[in-house]
Amino acid sequence: MRLSVDLNRCQGYAQCAFLAPDVFTMHGDEALLYSPYADPEQRERVERAAAACPVQAIRMDDRDDAAPAGAREGESGAR
Ligand code: SF4
Repeated sequence: MRLSVDLNRCQGYAQCAFLAPDVFTMHGDEALLYSPYADPEQRERVERAAAACPVQAIRMDDRDDAAPAGAREGESGAR
């Protein structure tokens, strides 16, 4: 699952870091660090974080092609 945060909107409220700490981390008082590619099992937590964000800065994208380049290496059935 791919996700993005509009850092122009983000006000560092840290709701996301509280609800999905494996994906979102606060660095200092206001700077947000996040992983743009979250494991599918993080989906529910990320959904809660997105819903809780006071400024609606978190966007999720579930498309299969949202994986990073090279992530298909090792895919079976290619022959
Ligand atoms: S909850 Fe929203 S405003 Fe708060 S740190 Fe996360 S993305 Fe930024």
